[in-house]
Amino acid sequence: MTQQAAIVSTCPLCAHELTFRFNTDEIPFFGEIMLVSASCRCGFKYADTITLREREAARYELEFDSDDFSTRVIRSSSGTVQIPELGVTIEPGSASEAFISNVEGVLCRVQEVIRMATKWSSDDPTKFELGNQLLERIDAVRRGEGTMTLVIDDPFGNGAIISPRAQRRALSESEAHQLKTGTITVGVSEWPLRTDEKGPLQIRFLTLPK
Ligand SMILES: [Zn+2]
Repeated sequence: MTQQAAIVSTCPLCAHELTFRFNTDEIPFFGEIMLVSASCRCGFKYADTITLREREAARYELEFDSDDFSTRVIRSSSGTVQIPELGVTIEPGSASEAFISNVEGVLCRVQEVIRMATKWSSDDPTKFELGNQLLERIDAVRRGEGTMTLVIDDPFGNGAIISPRAQRRALSESEAHQLKTGTITVGVSEWPLRTDEKGPLQIRFLTLPK
């Protein structure tokens, strides 16, 4: 059963009246979650997912191939997403938005970031070449060749990969402590193509329609 609610508040950016919407949704094998969203005409956007059960800090890990593309992925604003084979880590930051997507959707977002970074690195042959190699690896997985690993860490247990093949384990207290828990940007860190002059890559995740 889904429930809806709305609260009228004010926009933290422009102070205009802003409606925050709350929707509950039942995710199979995960439980009830609440989606919170607001979108102001000044451009401010907020979206998050919150589990309605108390959960522990957890890591979900899935070695995926193209057969897993429709597997559901829940990433809250406190979730850290990694694809180690691509050297990509998406950490919570000052403007992160939660999403409910699937494995293919996450891969598409990551591909977009790599494409952007590769473009910016066109004056650096080594980085440019590396970027193109990573893009080729993504294309290969899409063609059904090879696998990659998707890892989601969430200190509040609000993230998940919904698949019987996904490995879930509790994070130790020290692991959970090392995670960033920003509530609002999505940054990419540990990124092999990052150049110091251009600073860390920032991307914005839009919430996908379910
Ligand atoms: Zn506003």
